[in-house]
Amino acid sequence: MAKPIVAIVGRPNVGKSTLFNKLIGQRLSIVEDTPGVTRDRIYAQCEWLNHEFMLVDTGGIEPYSEDVILSQMRRQAEVAIESASVIILVTDVRSGVTATDQEVATMLLKSGKPIILCVNKVDSIGDTPAEVYEFYNLGLGDPIPVSSTHGHGTGDLLDEVLKHLPEGEEEDYGDDVIKVAVIGKPNVGKSSLINKIAGEERVIVSNIAGTTRDAVDTVVENESGKFVFIDTAGIRRKSKVFENIERYSVLRAYMAVDRADVCVIVIDATEGFTEQDSKVAGYAHEQGKGCIVAVNKWDAVEDKTDKTMKEFSDKLRVDFSFMSYVPFLFISALTGQRVNKLYEMIKEVAEKNAIRVTTGSLNDLLAYATARVQPPSDKGRRLKIYYITQASTKPPTFVAFVNRKELFHFSYQRYLENQIRETFDLQGTPIRFIVRERD
Ligand code: GDP
Ligand code: GDP
Repeated sequence: MAKPIVAIVGRPNVGKSTLFNKLIGQRLSIVEDTPGVTRDRIYAQCEWLNHEFMLVDTGGIEPYSEDVILSQMRRQAEVAIESASVIILVTDVRSGVTATDQEVATMLLKSGKPIILCVNKVDSIGDTPAEVYEFYNLGLGDPIPVSSTHGHGTGDLLDEVLKHLPEGEEEDYGDDVIKVAVIGKPNVGKSSLINKIAGEERVIVSNIAGTTRDAVDTVVENESGKFVFIDTAGIRRKSKVFENIERYSVLRAYMAVDRADVCVIVIDATEGFTEQDSKVAGYAHEQGKGCIVAVNKWDAVEDKTDKTMKEFSDKLRVDFSFMSYVPFLFISALTGQRVNKLYEMIKEVAEKNAIRVTTGSLNDLLAYATARVQPPSDKGRRLKIYYITQASTKPPTFVAFVNRKELFHFSYQRYLENQIRETFDLQGTPIRFIVRERD
């Protein structure tokens, strides 16, 4: 289930990033700190009074001229409207209500989404300064005075957010449907791939009403099963401008990943692996999703011999060493080559991601593995692994009960992980390992 998204929007310099940092630094606990993601400080999984949600800073506007700002603000607001359950509009008490604030407020209001009006930089404690009342003119209800630098008012702000958070966002699709996010940087061929899929299969394009998301998903049903391809980069209502702003394309990819069971990471064969590829892939991996790398534009690779694919794979294996389990599929969205293989692969990876392994078979494995390679010891004490059990799925998460945690070296953990992977054939899914001590 996807967590509700709370988006922060507002003009440059009103204090959006300061607010974002204050909220996640002081008030909210970050549920999962994903390296490389929170570094951007655009996206954080948070918890406030037992409610989990995603806090998103949709800002990042370069302050050029007023009209550029306005068009970028519109885009920012669009992203928020499309993705968020609750939107926080941040304004600046010092500049008062500006024409841009008014414009964005009108746009947000039209969306029908709950909008929380934050008037920032109210640093004084005590009576609400008269300037705050001017913000009623935006027609968004009560302004909430906040000082993002000092932290005053942020509790009230969060309380207000909570009032409007939906109770867990159920997706309309059934359990038998596999949700797939097709992710990757611009121009690798994501929309071509979706269009190929959509063109050749019986497709129902559903605009799911009643959910807080207005994205258009592509539903495909065939002999391999039922799939939903989640709209990532405005694949249908495609807007290149949108996607070329990296911040938004990355953001949208993350949102799609959160909803997905399986992520198809598309890379461009003519370009090879790039840093940006590792970023989206890394996010899918960290979130515990089933993953497949689709090497697209295989038709455009020149002078292929019978060794080319193997050479390409070997190189990719190194590039993707942080997710050694990921399968590669060489496709062409243009010609359709091997696109049909994708379904079976998605299905298999989804199954592996959701696998349940019995404690009995895990402990058979443990007995075998520890007999083959003795657990490590240190200063006369040897690691004892009493038993292993699976705690949860998506991704498969295993708990090992041991005598001493510090003896459970990374290399031995790796060894056991590999044993588990091999025994249960866990292709395409990350797995997690939790070590617990017990006497
Ligand atoms: P953004 O462009 O909307 O993300 O704005 P920033 O968070 O970068 O803040 C712009 C400027 O306003 C920075 O110099 C901040 O230190 C300052 N600022 C942000 N919040 C407050 C606040 O609550 N009080 C005061 N006095 N300054 C603030
Ligand atoms: P997106 O930005 O990731 O959605 O990429 P697009 O689907 O818009 O594709 C970007 C460009 O790559 C377009 O010019 C496509 O025609 C081209 N393209 C996409 N898939 C293939 C492919 O399999 N082979 C070749 N040769 N070109 C492709």
